[in-house]
Amino acid sequence: MANSKFEYVREFEQPDYLLRNTWIVVRVDGRAFTKMCTRYGFEKPNDRRALDVMNAAAKAVVTDLPEITVAYGVSDEYSKLVSTIVSTFTANYIYCWPTYFPDTPLSFPLPTFDGRAVCYPTIQNLRDYMSWRQADCHINNLYNTAFWSLVQLGGLDNKEAEKTLAGTLAADKNEILFSRFSINYNNEPEIFRKGSVVFRDYELVDPASHQTADAVDALAEPVQQSKTQNENDKKRRSKARIVVEHLDIIRDDFWDRRPWILS
Ligand code: ATP
Ligand code: ATP
Ligand code: MG
Ligand code: MG
Ligand code: MG
Ligand code: MG
Repeated sequence: MANSKFEYVREFEQPDYLLRNTWIVVRVDGRAFTKMCTRYGFEKPNDRRALDVMNAAAKAVVTDLPEITVAYGVSDEYSKLVSTIVSTFTANYIYCWPTYFPDTPLSFPLPTFDGRAVCYPTIQNLRDYMSWRQADCHINNLYNTAFWSLVQLGGLDNKEAEKTLAGTLAADKNEILFSRFSINYNNEPEIFRKGSVVFRDYELVDPASHQTADAVDALAEPVQQSKTQNENDKKRRSKARIVVEHLDIIRDDFWDRRPWILS
């Protein structure tokens, strides 16, 4: 292979490093999922099975790639990072599908995802990014819950429902849900209102594997001086339990109680 006359094509490969010392966010998004909803009969506005298969895939990605904290990577190689995450996510999504949709087999075209990486230089930027996504989840879900209640329970068609909601504020939507359909929005499932956050929960580490990790670390430390903090962290992360929860990540509380996530 080496030195063949064809090898010059390697020169076309561009380095595409991300900025060092930044928080790398990789956003994975289903391609043409509007069509997927119709094709596989997702319940509107929220299909629990479809969320569960996304969460299962996300959890598998975090399990497989120990560099990731809260679905955020720390690395410096852009394309490899993004492509690895997206392909791991997609493979697990397809693998997990039958668990959540036992009566709806996948068919072509199969579900696929796009991915993009963005670097955020400060923890505040990263927190604001997360807050932006969760605020978006809340705004969309309140709108969708009101919209589909008007359609499914109120008998309106899509156009009429859209018109009813045009120009309404959050309080108006809450009021429509409560007065017309006796729905208290705050009692809607948290997974719908807050989305899902995947992270390592060190408090809940399995005591057996925790002990092993500590013992190995203690033995390794004095002899292997060259071993970096990074490698130790990576090993610790790969032993930790990964959880999927539906918590407020805008307020400080989530982060204050889990200092290991952003340190
Ligand atoms: P693109 O390829 O550009 O991302 P898209 O059709 O996937 O196109 P999005 O903006 O990503 O566009 O929208 C995703 C769509 O899938 C939304 O309409 C959303 O309501 C729907 N959807 C996603 N997950 C669920 C779910 N669990 N239950 C019901 N609907 C869902
Ligand atoms: P990376 O994640 O960095 O790509 P890698 O282990 O995949 O790491 P590659 O340089 O891509 O490293 O090498 C792929 C390896 O898999 C090679 O050793 C190659 O010989 C082996 N391999 C791939 N396909 C086959 C196959 N069909 N049969 C036998 N060996 C294979
Ligand atoms: Mg989307
Ligand atoms: Mg998209
Ligand atoms: Mg999409
Ligand atoms: Mg390879």
